[in-house]
Amino acid sequence: MSKIIVVGSSNTDMVIKTNHIPIPGETVLGGNFFMNSGGKGANQAVAIARLGGDVTFITKIGRDVFGKESLKKFKEEGINIDFTVTHKSKPSGIALVTLGDNAENSIVVAPGANNSLKKKNINKAIDEIKKAEIILIQLEIPLKIVKHVIELGRKYGKKVILNPAPGKKLEDVLYRNLFAVTPNETEAEIMTDVKVVDEQSAKKAALVLRSKGVKNVIITLGSKGAYLCSDEFSGIISGYQVIAKDTTAAGDTFNGAFAIGISKGLSIKETIKFANKAASLAVTKLGAQSSIPYLEDLEVHKN
Ligand code: ADP
Repeated sequence: MSKIIVVGSSNTDMVIKTNHIPIPGETVLGGNFFMNSGGKGANQAVAIARLGGDVTFITKIGRDVFGKESLKKFKEEGINIDFTVTHKSKPSGIALVTLGDNAENSIVVAPGANNSLKKKNINKAIDEIKKAEIILIQLEIPLKIVKHVIELGRKYGKKVILNPAPGKKLEDVLYRNLFAVTPNETEAEIMTDVKVVDEQSAKKAALVLRSKGVKNVIITLGSKGAYLCSDEFSGIISGYQVIAKDTTAAGDTFNGAFAIGISKGLSIKETIKFANKAASLAVTKLGAQSSIPYLEDLEVHKN
């Protein structure tokens, strides 16, 4: 199995449950408080580690209690943190989440150190990047860093997978050197102006992205699975039926598992089947990183 590099964000989610989300100027007494590790980069690195991958995580945290706690967790998960950088003064990324009844929420994110990831931090890891086969990246860090990583991937012949989340319209040149792009339906619409509601519209959006030069376009379709458009195959690869409790981190688990499948040399269709399987298990549990499955958990699905 080949090495995977994840470049991305790390956050701590601070969550208060309440039966009433306050309006501006209002203070309410809420219910329980809990903290969760999050950030798309960290979630995807954790997914890769739990599913048995060899992963190095390049991220920036603050010199604070949250940063220390994140580092400890990454180590416990077996993630290589040799290129995780601690910023001298910026705080770690924090998401303040007010979680109302019916799972509605309001969230404010302070990216903190995530916004200070620099080219020099990536360049320090060049030897590690050279040893890897796959680079997995998202859009919760500065776009100039995303561009730099894609360019390094091109230069050293790596398979770069871009999970374009949160959704953003990107310059065409960014797509040309991507091995895969993995938007969900909303992100695909932001990128292509095609509203994705069914197989036909998924195909239309995927073809827009393919025409920009991406080898494999994968649009995740929630419980329906994922639409693949590649040289090899175009069509839906069905998801697994589960009783969904919380879809947080489904996309991150999908992306981590997708990187693993490629690193194991599975075909792209087999890889998506594996990613659907892993992600379906993540939706059966509450929370972000707490819901990401381990390889042995996948045994429950026999097919
Ligand atoms: P995101 O979490 O980024 O919004 P999706 O909702 O498309 O992305 O979910 C990502 C993947 O998670 C899907 O492709 C699918 O494999 C799995 N998934 C999501 N929701 C469900 C569900 N209700 N049942 C089974 N699998 C699901």
